[in-house]
Amino acid sequence: MVLEQEDGVPMLSVQPKGKQKGCAGCNRKIKDRYLLKALDKYWHEDCLKCACCDCRLGEVGSTLYTKANLILCRRDYLRLFGTTGNCAACSKLIPAFEMVMRARDNVYHLDCFACQLCNQRFCVGDKFFLKNNMILCQMDYEEGQLNGTFESQVQ
Ligand SMILES: [Zn+2]
Ligand SMILES: [Zn+2]
Ligand SMILES: [Zn+2]
Ligand SMILES: [Zn+2]
Repeated sequence: MVLEQEDGVPMLSVQPKGKQKGCAGCNRKIKDRYLLKALDKYWHEDCLKCACCDCRLGEVGSTLYTKANLILCRRDYLRLFGTTGNCAACSKLIPAFEMVMRARDNVYHLDCFACQLCNQRFCVGDKFFLKNNMILCQMDYEEGQLNGTFESQVQ
């Protein structure tokens, strides 16, 4: 998981001191016993909410995430801006919202998930094999077994 750490912002639950603070969410004064301090602003506990799922951020953790002018909970931040990992076939990053194929510890773009010898795509229910970290169709796998191609490469 690759995460740009600077997008995470700590939230602090503090007791108001001195002059009443205005809430950055609703612009009203905060009269509650506790308020949240984040992004150098003060907020009602009810007003600091995730732009996506509307959860109260003060309740789900002590960090909020901000990106592209959105305030988000960790889950939505990862969903929108995080990455699933690198595609084992093309080695490019896969954004978290994209559908992926998984085989053991590897992830693949849907488009990249094909036999790496003959480029055959797999349908639901098709058998595929993972050998020497390569995806193979049944034919290429069995052929490799017969020729002993794989055995020589095994660590
Ligand atoms: Zn408020
Ligand atoms: Zn959320
Ligand atoms: Zn790929
Ligand atoms: Zn093949």
